[in-house]
Amino acid sequence: MDKRDYYEVLGVSKGASDDEIKKAYRKLAKKYHPDLNKDNPEAADKFKEAAEAYDVLSDSEKRSRYDQFGHAGVDPNGFGGGGAGGGFGGFGGFDMGDIFESFFGGGFGGSSSRRNGPIRGRDIQQAIELTFEEAAFGCKKKVTIIRGESCDECGGSGAKKGTSPVKCARCGGTGQMRTVQQTPFGQFASTSTCNQCGGRGTTISDPCPVCNGSGQNRKKKELEVNIPAGIDHGQTVSVRGQGEAGLRGGSSGDLLVTIYVKPSSVFTREGNNVYIDVPITFVQATLGCEIEIPTLDGKVMHRIPEGTQHGTKFRLKGRGIPSIRGNSRGDQYVRIIVEIPKNISSKQREILEQFAEETSDRNYTQKKKFSEKLKEYFKN
Ligand SMILES: [Zn+2]
Ligand SMILES: [Zn+2]
Repeated sequence: MDKRDYYEVLGVSKGASDDEIKKAYRKLAKKYHPDLNKDNPEAADKFKEAAEAYDVLSDSEKRSRYDQFGHAGVDPNGFGGGGAGGGFGGFGGFDMGDIFESFFGGGFGGSSSRRNGPIRGRDIQQAIELTFEEAAFGCKKKVTIIRGESCDECGGSGAKKGTSPVKCARCGGTGQMRTVQQTPFGQFASTSTCNQCGGRGTTISDPCPVCNGSGQNRKKKELEVNIPAGIDHGQTVSVRGQGEAGLRGGSSGDLLVTIYVKPSSVFTREGNNVYIDVPITFVQATLGCEIEIPTLDGKVMHRIPEGTQHGTKFRLKGRGIPSIRGNSRGDQYVRIIVEIPKNISSKQREILEQFAEETSDRNYTQKKKFSEKLKEYFKN
């Protein structure tokens, strides 16, 4: 197979700056790093191809030779390049891990040595539904989960009671296998998980019969979760340490409970404020009245003054949702809906017609202002 052009491999132009080349390589190295592509055999080749291209293009001397002579200018197996001799020195003992670490601060290389150390257990996600009031004032809720718990029989070691796991003979307890490959471009050292112990560094000859050597058992568990007052739809309550058990002495994960709040039949909520529409009759609005308003704390009586207009809003201070931080409460906003009667009887009609005869502009200031505006508008 023909070798691909190095610029093409990195996806940069012939005139690319050193910085562009470095960035392009970083991207590819991250994408095709063998540690992250265990199931993709092609990735290792891509990774080497990118490393080779970077080695040449990041070195101004090699790059200019490559620009002049192509692969032959830098390839030790090529024709023109052989004579250049010392030019290839930089490639000897090349270690992918080293290059990688210098770029990413050892994030990947470093983690491999810790693979047989403690691992924190995974978090468990759960969802629960609350009523509007439960969310407002907080509550306790029972949650049933199924999780892996450390095996009581073997204490989590996975080895039969009275025995203990032994150091893996193949990897000597590191959990890692290091392989060094000789290639035309130098040595490539890579590490992989030990296939004897699966990276644990230990093997069990006599597995615990209760957990079958896994060190954990799946158990159903009922937990009571404290839901704080003021929680809102879509928020999450996390319960420390109630997730899956950790491995090899690692801490447990968390239980994350996502909250769904059922809509209320009377209230709506925005942040910590509560909103409600209260309908009254046009007679109540005209004459004024005392009405009952539901709040989260129960009913309160409220005086509606004579001549209250449709859409009038007022605030009941401190009747909203408690702040989740616990130091204040939102407000309740009430909007008055003036209801116009339908299906009136002939007697009611008569009374209203009589009433209409008795009314004047004095009773309807909005209507009066509007007719004046209209007159002005159509004058021209
Ligand atoms: Zn066990
Ligand atoms: Zn091993």
